[in-house]
Amino acid sequence: MSPEQIGMKHMQRISTITLAAAIFLVGCQRSTGQPPNTNMTMDTKAGMDTMSQYDHSNNPYYSHTDTTKLNVPLSEWKKLLPEDLYYIAFEKGTERAFTGKYWEFDGIGTYACAVCGNVLFQADSKFASSCGWPSFFQPERKDAIIYHEDRTFGMVRTETMCGRCGAHLGHVFEDGPKPTGLRYCINSVSLEFIGKK
Ligand code: FE
Repeated sequence: MSPEQIGMKHMQRISTITLAAAIFLVGCQRSTGQPPNTNMTMDTKAGMDTMSQYDHSNNPYYSHTDTTKLNVPLSEWKKLLPEDLYYIAFEKGTERAFTGKYWEFDGIGTYACAVCGNVLFQADSKFASSCGWPSFFQPERKDAIIYHEDRTFGMVRTETMCGRCGAHLGHVFEDGPKPTGLRYCINSVSLEFIGKK
């Protein structure tokens, strides 16, 4: 084999390796270029049409239609509710911003109190907020939510609670969009989404 032929062979090998590397890189780009977790998001959204966030089979008070005010002792709620829900609902806890399941969820349907099932908001009153919690500009009806002045942490805020069971939901602020100008900032844990079928 002449030196020219050896050189040609070498160049061909380099070209083949370069082409293979290019195909590999394009392949990598394609796989990461897809929207992340596309299937998972779609499945999750579809699943929310039928799945409950919590198991309510042991909760005799849970209803989307009964608006009778409840007066259930905390000791009973503690037995009935999951730990994270009890903590937020009755110890006035707050989930970490940008971690809840609904803060950037935009399904069409209704949001109910996760403790008692009281319908609190319609999805068409939810808006994209940068605060990291699900935000709504209007409750389902006037008595769906009750209000309480909250002076904790050196601030004066308006706490929002479920109008039926008294569970802590979050707070309401006066920096929301039209038509109400209100921002109901609610913990995802306190909510249960019921999708429209
Ligand atoms: Fe409730």
